Amino acid sequence: MPSKYGKRGGKKTHIRCRRCGRRAYHIRKKVCAACGFGGSKRIRSYSWSRKPVTRSHRLV
Ligand SMILES: [Zn+2]
Repeated sequence: MPSKYGKRGGKKTHIRCRRCGRRAYHIRKKVCAACGFGGSKRIRSYSWSRKPVTRSHRLV
């Protein structure tokens, strides 16, 4: 990957979450930052979170 955009790329910390589809699943922590998959059985959702957990995202 060309390092054109600063120090991004290389080690990725978040991959696509299996439950919410967002690219928020932390590989090392094994928990999704968006929906809490892997950490809790309940879907993580907060009122202050503008973007609700959905499955419609197609980020990889
Ligand atoms: Zn998730």
